[in-house]
Amino acid sequence: MSWPELLENLSASGRQLDQQTDLLCQTENTQFQLFCTKGCSNCCTLAVNCSFVEAVAIANNLSADQRQALTAKLPLLRQISQQAENLKEFLRQFRAQLGGCPFLAVEDGSCSIYPLRPLSCRALLSTRNSSWCAVDFADLHPQEKEAFLSSLNPEIVAFPTHYLATSQELGLELESVSMVAMRDTFSVALSGNLIYQVWLETEFQLSKVLAQGFAATRQFIEERKLDLPFLLQLQGR
Ligand code: SF4
Repeated sequence: MSWPELLENLSASGRQLDQQTDLLCQTENTQFQLFCTKGCSNCCTLAVNCSFVEAVAIANNLSADQRQALTAKLPLLRQISQQAENLKEFLRQFRAQLGGCPFLAVEDGSCSIYPLRPLSCRALLSTRNSSWCAVDFADLHPQEKEAFLSSLNPEIVAFPTHYLATSQELGLELESVSMVAMRDTFSVALSGNLIYQVWLETEFQLSKVLAQGFAATRQFIEERKLDLPFLLQLQGR
């Protein structure tokens, strides 16, 4: 496979996931209600992970303003990654300090890269009012937390979150298909933080390095000290 074929396959996966989630949103359902609408952007403060193929698709289509918004996040992202002592702390500080996704349109809270947004964004469907998507559970009173958790149906949601499980399972499955195709093609697969990977592609055209295989990619990343904590996962065959 080539980069254009990997990107075309990803595009088909995005369409498949959208069709499934549209169906879930339209179906009259007695077991759960979905609350996601355009402009309710509270989940866009969460750290998003994706395959590098998804990052390349986005990087290839950014406007100058979007590139600027992306680059502006880098110093703080780097600092949060280097200061966090563990993944939990990284995710918490990412949300508290970074000020949301650089691709969030400030005017109306919509996603400015909507047709290209990562599979994990497409798959995140809220079964609670969007105000719950902004809550940091570490800040909740234990009784409030307990009441919230006991109100969730673990057969419907990705417990202990209020996000629908079925869409996330399909999103992860399709992301994994993209990772396997990348590894089969180049003998190397990369995944990690959305912002960081899109920046790596815009800054270094990392997709060209990846096409040279695992050893060349690892050397490139190591020489430039790009392997920051919690931001990148590199896999060989
Ligand atoms: S890519 Fe779009 S949907 Fe995903 S976090 Fe960013 S603004 Fe939100």
